[in-house]
Amino acid sequence: MPTPEQMVLGANRILVLCHTSPDGDGIGALAAMGHILRALGKQATLACADPVPREYRFMPGTDAIVQRPEGEFDLVISLDSSDLPRLGEAYDAAKLAHVPLLNIDHHITNLNFGTVNWVEPNSASTCQLVLRLADGLGVEITPEIATCLLSGIVMDTRGFTTPNTDLAALRAAERLVAAGANISDIARKLLVQRPFSMTKLWGDVLAQAHLEDGVVWASLPASLMAQSDASANGLSGLVAFLAGVEEARVAVLFRERNDGRVEVSLRSVPGVDVSGVALAMGGGGHPQAAGFTLAEPLADVEAKTLAAVRALLKGSGQADG
Ligand code: 5GP
Ligand code: MN
Repeated sequence: MPTPEQMVLGANRILVLCHTSPDGDGIGALAAMGHILRALGKQATLACADPVPREYRFMPGTDAIVQRPEGEFDLVISLDSSDLPRLGEAYDAAKLAHVPLLNIDHHITNLNFGTVNWVEPNSASTCQLVLRLADGLGVEITPEIATCLLSGIVMDTRGFTTPNTDLAALRAAERLVAAGANISDIARKLLVQRPFSMTKLWGDVLAQAHLEDGVVWASLPASLMAQSDASANGLSGLVAFLAGVEEARVAVLFRERNDGRVEVSLRSVPGVDVSGVALAMGGGGHPQAAGFTLAEPLADVEAKTLAAVRALLKGSGQADG
């Protein structure tokens, strides 16, 4: 099997993809990869099935990200996605099935769907893997690349506060700051700032949050979301806030989308692994942060998910206190 570096060096027209409902790690890795491939003289097309959320557009190079890529490619690189369906319509299987696929990811639930799979569940972010790839390829880390990659680390560790924060994440961050990334500016844009409408939405959702048997949960019906110009980044902040409830071991946020599908976000304390629940529901994630999407009525998704979480907590007993 070729190494990831060999795959990149052997290709010329490269399609780079990240997952639908993108987060800062997916978009940061995608935009950074664009800069890295262009530094090597490669043709790079960057795509994500959903538009880049407003909060991530400060990362240099995100304006080049398209939703439906066109053209011929001799390599596809998937970033931060644990399965092929999660690439959505940006991956046209009819056209791309015969093109080699390099799968770069850090989800423990990754289904190894690539020709070559570089999956490191112990890495706090996909952006750290992209940094190592840039090093392996001899590409200099410019301030633009550093800003994109540090955004992924800040996002996936929520500013170095989540249990996946480790020395490797801190060391990568140190290098990226030295290379020109502004860490407080990134943290403010990704984690601190939100529109007034999103702030009010938090209030509405929190006012009807439930705490039952160690599970804190809340729902966002499509009607509530419609009153806000808010995009998804604020909701990852909301589920993180819910996960701060002292009495809870698991936090769940249900979000009904306009197309009727329901997105579920799970968070847990160390010792409770929610990635298996997400995987069983067709999604994926990390031990302490996972998610899935179901095309079922909101009330059914709530009942099904809460039953699965209750069974998980019963199984995991009191071991972690
Ligand atoms: P979030 O709750 O912030 O949307 O997602 C938490 C983690 O679970 C992220 O790593 C995200 O990639 C993963 N995740 C969320 N929803 C899905 C999904 O529908 N499918 C897969 N494969 N992973 C998901
Ligand atoms: Mn990630």
